[in-house]
Amino acid sequence: MVTELLHNLILGLLIGIFLAIITYKKNLITRKGAITSIFISSLIFLSGWKNFLILFMFFVASTALTLLGYDTKKKKNVAESSHGREWTQVIGTGGMTILWSLINIYSLYIRSHTLYLASLLSLITSIAISNADTWAAEIGTLSNQKPRLIYKPWKTIDTGLSGGVTLLGEIASFGGSLFISIISYFLYLNIIIPEYLLILVLGGWSGEITDSLIGGLLQVKYYCKKCNKITEKEIHSCGMPTSYYRGLKWIKNETTNFLSSLMISTIIFFITLLIQKPI
Ligand SMILES: [Zn+2]
Repeated sequence: MVTELLHNLILGLLIGIFLAIITYKKNLITRKGAITSIFISSLIFLSGWKNFLILFMFFVASTALTLLGYDTKKKKNVAESSHGREWTQVIGTGGMTILWSLINIYSLYIRSHTLYLASLLSLITSIAISNADTWAAEIGTLSNQKPRLIYKPWKTIDTGLSGGVTLLGEIASFGGSLFISIISYFLYLNIIIPEYLLILVLGGWSGEITDSLIGGLLQVKYYCKKCNKITEKEIHSCGMPTSYYRGLKWIKNETTNFLSSLMISTIIFFITLLIQKPI
């Protein structure tokens, strides 16, 4: 088992470095973000190439969508920063996936099939959440409708603020979760039965909804006096420093991502333990 782990680690490290160089050169990620992503890809590869492939499909799909309609997003001021994704964003989306990957390896070590299946479904759910979230954001912002506040749907808010949802964004979110779940289903045909597939799709989707709820209710918001607008940035896009408006100061976008992934993937873990069928 040790040889296999070492083999996986080296392979993951090499592929991770290769991907980091490409994304860094394309300005999709910052330098620290690229280094963090190398750690993440090697730790995911530790639990096997299939898990890495699922993460890789998220990476490919989200990168393609970030570039989709980039000009429209720039006009609406919601495009990803031109420096690329920060390391905190990488941890926010990949942190839970690493944790489940390590538990997955441990389950192989202690030969617990129960733990193996539960950690595998949680790992896939965490990726499905990230993908649902990205699809909701990247496709949702292209919607012509103004986003509605998820916990007060009669109120509309500015595009790009956390807690805002559109019909297009929610369909995209469901599609994003379905995409990762279907790929995983075919990769693990002998393990993932149709009931588990359903759990994965709903898990990924509800993770994105939880993300919107935490984002809208708890995440810190700032106010720009010059533009009379609420924003999530301490320096507004107009260049003016903003003042605190509401929310918890320690909950920023990446914290929201991490918390929703932590909550939903943990719930999926326990649901799987409860309903698991012997194979
Ligand atoms: Zn401003």
